[in-house]
Amino acid sequence: MKIYNTYSEKIEEIELKQPIGIYVCGITPYDTTHLGHAFTFVTYDILVRYLRFLGANVTYVQNVTDIDDDILIRAHALKTTWKELGNHETISHFKNMHALNALHPDHIPKATENISQMQKIIQGLIKKGGAYVINNSVYFDVKKDKNFGKLSKFNYKAMLEIANDRGNFPIDPNKKNELDFVLWQAQQHPDEPSWNSPWGQGRPGWHIECSAMSMRYLGSTLTIHGGGQDLIFPHHESEIAQSENFTDKKFVKTWMHTAMVYSEGKKMSKSLGNMIFVHDLLKTYTASELRTFLAMHHYRTSFNYDEAEFVVAKNAIKAFEPCCLDQKILSFKRLKQIAPEFLLALDNDLDTSKAFQILTDIAKSKNETKKAIIPTGLKILGIKV
Ligand SMILES: [Zn+2]
Repeated sequence: MKIYNTYSEKIEEIELKQPIGIYVCGITPYDTTHLGHAFTFVTYDILVRYLRFLGANVTYVQNVTDIDDDILIRAHALKTTWKELGNHETISHFKNMHALNALHPDHIPKATENISQMQKIIQGLIKKGGAYVINNSVYFDVKKDKNFGKLSKFNYKAMLEIANDRGNFPIDPNKKNELDFVLWQAQQHPDEPSWNSPWGQGRPGWHIECSAMSMRYLGSTLTIHGGGQDLIFPHHESEIAQSENFTDKKFVKTWMHTAMVYSEGKKMSKSLGNMIFVHDLLKTYTASELRTFLAMHHYRTSFNYDEAEFVVAKNAIKAFEPCCLDQKILSFKRLKQIAPEFLLALDNDLDTSKAFQILTDIAKSKNETKKAIIPTGLKILGIKV
């Protein structure tokens, strides 16, 4: 099977005989699951299902960023605690994903349960000279890492602009360089959640959380690291820098990123009021219809939310139904004999859009032998009929 690697900018073979470790950046639990989240997590769910169908030994990790500025701000606005808000939204997210027939990840680490792993990496980086301590905070020294920018391929100026747009504080007086990012931030107010550390009370930066949680469960080198395209910079760029400077090993073999889902032609955001939530969609459509709608799109092609596509999804499910009276699941060998084109589509950078079209065409055809693959094909796509 081949996947497009954001790092090499090429479609590359995934080694199926070795154990496969997949880490996907999970939610920051302060808001409900929206369509973009669902697109990302359904993509990786299909990837995991397909790799397992091919016989691979997959460990799938999806974290929860349960401490973050957004959670603190939202908890304050809702007059609740960050812990309660985080727990509530985490449960609600996995309920939504369960409704969408997503497999439960093998590990769901929470940032607040991995503080000591993060501190270990930070200490290592300080020792090696890649990070510095100032006023009880610790920063990653970007200028010390000549490879910084190798994933996103942005130059320093472009990186700085994007980082500033995404929460970087260039004028932080603690920093040596404007682009340095925080590994450990000192507690600002006494009521802010904090943990003990060799540098004083504080909490981890966002990027170090994912380095620590991914390597804890999957070792120094992950097979696949995934997330939405908007995480490439600065989040994933920073993860590489921290991890590789700490371990001196390649952090990730394949970087895989899902495209953005737009609503009314724009990125979904609270301020624009164009958010589309999974729990709202599930009031109008069945989970299978929503799952089909998502699988109809290739993960690297961004799309604008279009209700009309649900008509296609509904019609496809109707066509699949008579083929699913017998839910017999075929082996890989048998599926390959009957409909190699279905496997070829998924082998080629997880082209679920094409795979879905192949199933639809078979369901509408008169080829009864081929129709025997439909329950297996739908199971791989995670569509229940
Ligand atoms: Zn992450």
